[in-house]
Amino acid sequence: MNFYLIGLFGGIVLLILLTFIKKDSKYAKFGIKLKRVYCPNCNLKQPIMRKPANQRQALFGGYTCKNCGVEMDKYGTEIDSNSV
Ligand SMILES: [Zn+2]
Repeated sequence: MNFYLIGLFGGIVLLILLTFIKKDSKYAKFGIKLKRVYCPNCNLKQPIMRKPANQRQALFGGYTCKNCGVEMDKYGTEIDSNSV
């Protein structure tokens, strides 16, 4: 067997599995969100390419709305930045 192919195949399977992680699962932070996210406050579409505003966004994804400044996770759920 070709180990390179096994690694490649395993990587693809893992990637597919990650996209199926539900937002309320305990692995949600490691999930990959493919759909566009809208601001929970003003409904502004968030950009695909984002600049992390803080360490949590850099690690787990998330957005800060350019329009109203609301912070949200990668699923578009508003985050209360005061409680973090
Ligand atoms: Zn907004």
